[in-house]
Amino acid sequence: MARNFNAAADKLGLDEGLREVLRRPDREVTVAIPVVMDNGKLEVFTGYRVQHNFSRGPCKGGIRYAPDVNLDEVRALSAWMTWKCAVVDVPFGGGKGGVICDPRKLSQGELERITRRYTSGILDILGPDRDVPAPDVNTNEQTMAWLMDTYSMHVRRTTTAVVTGKPIALGGSRGRREATGRGVMFVCREALKKLGMRPENTRVVVQGSGNVGGIGAELMHREGYKIVSISDMYGAIHNEKGLDIPAVMAHLKKNGKLAGFPGAKELTSAAALELPCEVLVPAATENQITSQNAERIQAKLIIEGANGPTTDAADKILEKKGVIVVPDILANAGGVTVSYFEWVQDRMGYFWTEEHVNTSLEQIMVKAFADVDAVANKYKCSMRIAAYILAIDRVSSVYKLRGVFA
Ligand code: NAD
Repeated sequence: MARNFNAAADKLGLDEGLREVLRRPDREVTVAIPVVMDNGKLEVFTGYRVQHNFSRGPCKGGIRYAPDVNLDEVRALSAWMTWKCAVVDVPFGGGKGGVICDPRKLSQGELERITRRYTSGILDILGPDRDVPAPDVNTNEQTMAWLMDTYSMHVRRTTTAVVTGKPIALGGSRGRREATGRGVMFVCREALKKLGMRPENTRVVVQGSGNVGGIGAELMHREGYKIVSISDMYGAIHNEKGLDIPAVMAHLKKNGKLAGFPGAKELTSAAALELPCEVLVPAATENQITSQNAERIQAKLIIEGANGPTTDAADKILEKKGVIVVPDILANAGGVTVSYFEWVQDRMGYFWTEEHVNTSLEQIMVKAFADVDAVANKYKCSMRIAAYILAIDRVSSVYKLRGVFA
């Protein structure tokens, strides 16, 4: 990310002082989280919340629970959120949080007590106008419900807009679950138009079959794309004539893995990335397209559903080969966009139909794609650098207009 930030800042001619402002988080909080465990013993966990930049609005970003959470990672992810929110032009800055713990070893009661005490530790910097967390790795709707309740009990009124990714019964948004996959589908459609290609003549390889990959594949299948391969953590399945994605997803639900799907060949998910196709959608995890395999990628277009699936070295190789990469901060921003809609609905106290959510998402994704494309044409650079230019320009312009408070 530092390379992309610097390349974009150079193109913009951003002065060194402003670069330093944008490199540094606005605020970092570390809290000790004492919790009485089920066995009666007291344990102290560590939690972080980093607010990278709040000049465009409240901070937005997930909270993850994992043994390897660390401040450097949380910091980097919070900056990523600043750029993602700015690319789709939603009025949020970036934030991220985490608690060092192993959720597989914790009971529901322990998880609830950790969440409530962590929330109370960072409560002063939270709020619908300050910082609005969301679920991330190993946290979910229930975690957000506990967080919302803890915050509400402290401020003595129900404040649903303090988190997004909540259950619909507690002020969650319709369409949030599908939002990232739907956003992937919209940007893919816009990119195809640019290349003069049509969905029915487009073979797609999807890596990952979870919230982003699985839902993205289902929506793209419905639009007429030929999904020739999809994978999960155990491996990939392939059928050059196209897979019946609803049947694949039903098989996955029933068996817990894709392997064994009738009529499909099996291969590793790494090998699937190199299959003949027009579009590749890495939607599983980071660092999947590297200097080791980039040369063999056959897709003309890569839509980054996951965060950071392409390394810097691979980016250079792909650019030389003329492969268009729609970067993560644009391609998977559908999720944060519908989180923004959730916050808006909570504040209005008026809830949209799913159709309204989806149409509004489409408008934002189509505009964001066009904005990034226009910057790429203006600066003659990749869509990734263009997305960073657009984001940094939006954040730094607001910063300059507001001036430095002294
Ligand atoms: P998920 O847990 O729902 O699904 C992950 C999928 O990837 C699973 O199918 C898993 O089996 C598969 N997988 C894991 N390792 C794999 C490998 N090496 N090869 C092939 N498949 C593998 O997660 P998700 O929510 O779909 O998130 C996927 C990525 O998208 C992550 O990078 C996440 O940060 C990013 N993202 C998610 C959202 C969102 O709204 N869910 C938003 C923005 C970005």
